[in-house]
Amino acid sequence: MTTPPPDADARRAIRPVICYPNETLPAPDLALYARARAGARKTGEVLVSPRDARCFEVPAGHFFRICSVEGPQVGDLNLWNARDLSERFYSGKTRALHGTHLTTGERMWSSFPSLRPMATITGDTLGWYGIDGFGGSVHDVIGTRCDPYTGNLLAGSQYHHCCHSNLTRALASHTGMDLHAAEPHVHDVLNVFMCTGFTRDTGQYFMKASPVRPGDHLEFFAEIDLLGGLSACPGGDCSAEHSSDTAACFPLLVEVFAPAEGALDGWQPPKRNGYDRTHGV
Ligand SMILES: [Zn+2]
Repeated sequence: MTTPPPDADARRAIRPVICYPNETLPAPDLALYARARAGARKTGEVLVSPRDARCFEVPAGHFFRICSVEGPQVGDLNLWNARDLSERFYSGKTRALHGTHLTTGERMWSSFPSLRPMATITGDTLGWYGIDGFGGSVHDVIGTRCDPYTGNLLAGSQYHHCCHSNLTRALASHTGMDLHAAEPHVHDVLNVFMCTGFTRDTGQYFMKASPVRPGDHLEFFAEIDLLGGLSACPGGDCSAEHSSDTAACFPLLVEVFAPAEGALDGWQPPKRNGYDRTHGV
């Protein structure tokens, strides 16, 4: 224990400031997206089996929807630029820009040096949830992805159906890469439908039973050509445990929708970040 200084209370009482005020973030044209979505037609779907993952492609300007079917289930979502896997979802920067959990109007941002919106959330049937009395909320960008290495570190286990391994297998099978080539492309996720927070007393990451029910969905507008990977987490609704075969798990459905011809006239995919990359040299 350290001894508090005489002005400890005064120091603690200083009001926080927002690290990244987001008023100057380029705002998505949600009215345009809503008009495009109204005339869109479904072009495909992928059903993700429990404790497994699938990849899917979404052209720029199309929509994709992740749906709860059969029972409460959380999903771990990876996104890549379909033409360049080195541009991928950047969970940490997305968290810094939007906060710990995402909902309608917020965006999934890509890694450096691109740092641009990859997808914009256009629909969230769990938007009503807000922040509960434990500090929990839905669709977080604070968790990583469940993985076999942490399980081995903590419990000496060899479990093969964590989201990390599921996503690795799915990316390998979709691209033809071998497992070891695919694995480094797997990255920290958007935890779709997962309800999480940090405990107030110890600051620990917690999860609780997801409020998702069959019929709920989270929908996105693809800002660039996307390759997605979605794992139906072995934690099921994450009410008790993950990284094992004990939780009840259900499939997740991904649907893709194409806008009507001309619905996005004048719209362009966002450009890569404008920093000149000379780094002071
Ligand atoms: Zn998982």
